[in-house]
Amino acid sequence: MIPYSKQHITDEDRLAVSHVLESDFVTQGPAVVDFEDALKKRFSVEHAVVCSSGTAALHLSYAGIGVNSKTIGIVPAITFSATANAFRYLGAEVRFCDVDEKTGLICLDSLESILRSIEYKSSLCRGVISPVSFAGAVAPLQEIKKLTPVHGLKIIEDASHSPGAFVDGDRATVHSASCSYSDAACLSFHPVKHICCGEGGAVLTNDKTISDAARKLRSHGIERPYDDSHESPWFYQQTELGWNYRLTDFQAVLGHSQLSRLDIQLEARRKIAETYDCAFAEAPFNESFEVPILSPGHSWHLYIIRFKLAGIRDRVHKFLKKRGILTQIHYVPLYRHPYYLERYGKQNFPGAEKFYQSCLSIPMYPSLSLDEQQLVIDSLGLCCKDLL
Ligand SMILES: *Cc1c(COP(=O)(O)O)cnc(C)c1O
Repeated sequence: MIPYSKQHITDEDRLAVSHVLESDFVTQGPAVVDFEDALKKRFSVEHAVVCSSGTAALHLSYAGIGVNSKTIGIVPAITFSATANAFRYLGAEVRFCDVDEKTGLICLDSLESILRSIEYKSSLCRGVISPVSFAGAVAPLQEIKKLTPVHGLKIIEDASHSPGAFVDGDRATVHSASCSYSDAACLSFHPVKHICCGEGGAVLTNDKTISDAARKLRSHGIERPYDDSHESPWFYQQTELGWNYRLTDFQAVLGHSQLSRLDIQLEARRKIAETYDCAFAEAPFNESFEVPILSPGHSWHLYIIRFKLAGIRDRVHKFLKKRGILTQIHYVPLYRHPYYLERYGKQNFPGAEKFYQSCLSIPMYPSLSLDEQQLVIDSLGLCCKDLL
């Protein structure tokens, strides 16, 4: 079976993990700090706090920025549940934003209408938005940042799909996860993402208040004076209610080893995108579906094609599965899930609906061989001829 995504583990990774397993620390040791230092350097941020998952990173950064039951958490309707769920963990209400029907990125008009809404204006607390740099394309962070002074909005970029992604704009290059246009950014180290720790995540920020809070909440809300100033060397105190969201040292060293290959694997993903793009420019492909824009700074977490005719997508999914090719839908709009449906009632966003009905993520990961790429292309070709 060819999955839509999977991890790429090398001998170097295995060796690094086995060294840690033979060392004195399997958790709370030096590998965690080393990984954090490497992340700071790679993404040009002042602080990095690694944790047990991308979801934990969102939870810690929302908590660190002061999200509470009076906050309105704004998220695009097309994203993974975690972006919204982490607001709910803190008692905040979620408002969904429509997305662009072609890119799946947050739609600025829809965002502005939420910000203008009476409910938002009258809420006692400020809003926090978590724009998702979806599939590997950077969210419109600069444009959202412009709205922040007027509305007192805070920005936490969900960069789970986009480490290494950038956009070259008219005025500046915007790098995902670098926090130039956000208060913090969150990464996920799940095996389908660019960097694999098994499970893992990170909060990146230039704001010491957020990183201090995230660090403390990652470990139960416990503080320790790290110098010897306190009269009792064993002294520690719990000042808040936190969680155990720590990353182990063997996960950290795996992530660190993977991070050192990020650029190589971004290049491998870009090459696959080019191969697809080239093949799909012709019939029968271009008559059946549209392809994502091949921009130089795309990090290609997902390669999502969009079918022109309603109903075709599900049939293609089944056809490919029979030939051993697994595809995926990213994502069911969050407001359609029973949990959110029950909480907020029926909602219908035209951009999110169109995207959802037509989208299909086809295999995209660095170790996808040329033969496998060709099999995906040939099978899709057969399928398009058959179904149209
Ligand atoms: C993967 C992902 C997360 C959560 O990551 P986990 O590490 O699985 O907890 C959050 N947001 C988005 C958009 C993701 O794709």
